[in-house]
Amino acid sequence: MISFDEAIRLILCEAKPAPCVIRRFDDALGTVCAARVVSPRDLPAFNSAAMDGFAVRASNTLLATPSKPLTLPISHRIEAGARCTDHKVGECVEITTGAVVPETLDSVIPYEQIHHTERVDGAAKSIKLTASAFVHQNVRRRGEDFQVGSLLIEPGTMIGASQIAAMAASGITDIVVHQMPVVDVFSTGAEVRSLHGPAEQLHDGEIYDSNTPYLLNTLKVEGIEARHSGNVGDDAASFAQSLLMPSEASIVISTGGVSKGPRDFIAETLTALGARILFHGVAIKPGKPILFAVLPDGRYFFGLPGNPIATAVGLRFFVQPLIRALLGMPIENPTKALLTDPYLKKGNGFHVVKAHRAFDQKGVGRITLLKDQSAFSVSSLLAMNCWAIVPEGAHALEKDMPIDSMDTGLF
Ligand code: AMP
Ligand code: MG
Repeated sequence: MISFDEAIRLILCEAKPAPCVIRRFDDALGTVCAARVVSPRDLPAFNSAAMDGFAVRASNTLLATPSKPLTLPISHRIEAGARCTDHKVGECVEITTGAVVPETLDSVIPYEQIHHTERVDGAAKSIKLTASAFVHQNVRRRGEDFQVGSLLIEPGTMIGASQIAAMAASGITDIVVHQMPVVDVFSTGAEVRSLHGPAEQLHDGEIYDSNTPYLLNTLKVEGIEARHSGNVGDDAASFAQSLLMPSEASIVISTGGVSKGPRDFIAETLTALGARILFHGVAIKPGKPILFAVLPDGRYFFGLPGNPIATAVGLRFFVQPLIRALLGMPIENPTKALLTDPYLKKGNGFHVVKAHRAFDQKGVGRITLLKDQSAFSVSSLLAMNCWAIVPEGAHALEKDMPIDSMDTGLF
């Protein structure tokens, strides 16, 4: 039996970067950047007004005081989106937010700070100021946001709305991302029935398959295509046959049939097919019998134990680190929260405990371990929102101790 850390090390050693593809910026949501994205332009691309008001040259306003208001003539108005072509050096202008601030002006005074505006037919002719303006006041300077060559997105970053907005703002249409892995999921167990169409009546001893929907949908939320490749019952031959079918998946997951019972045929079948088994059995609870292998055609294979919580742990703590590594994402950092009650770990190894994490009224993150820690209980999936981690070496945990936790979602 190997430790959890050793298992992760073995998985990461096998992980080869997923192939790269080019995506349109607005079709890249949920993918992971594979090559640095740098800005091809300055943003803002020109000095622009941050408020509606009047653009002036600050050094021309120094004499303005409340007792001696200064009058400045206004030559014309510049609107956002308009080119500013007929502007002459030093002329003050009325300006709208986002409009180009002419080169020779350096300050925008908002309407609220103008003492008086003289207008003829609606057009401003002059303004009176009772205070001087500061250089760069209410001016967004060229390149203040990004400059040509600024790093916008690092490899390993998952593309969300913010990254898409930054690409759009800098006029970047394409991005190199990793192809998302495709996952095939097999269920095993003669007792397991899939819910396809109307619910079939179960016979004594049969159960509905809840592992496959859990796996498929946890992956789907992250934009990872996963499909059910069928239930092979407890039949090694049909499992072997299914594995030999061509598939574009890079990861195969099976649930059940991986312990040491007479009907646990996964490990034997993989060996017979020539797969390289990297581990079978990890000092983790729940989910100890987990198996990881590489198939002869290079697909990664995870044999997850059939109990629903063991399956969930297998996906979150073993499959997820592989996916992150394939996509070039950094190793995940756990979130710390303070334990609401003492806890005594039974047994050794790395324990993953169903838990609920929330902020208390003082804004402190607190974590409560669920009473129900059974590996078969589906109801506890509804009650938990994270996994608490009790590492190897830790035994008695005291109330208010900070402990590590991981979200139930994958990324
Ligand atoms: P196994 O790992 O095959 O020994 O299965 C362990 C337990 O998980 C047994 O009680 C199985 O009936 C149950 N189980 C196996 N596969 C599934 C599944 N797909 N959905 C729900 N429970 C399952
Ligand atoms: Mg079974």
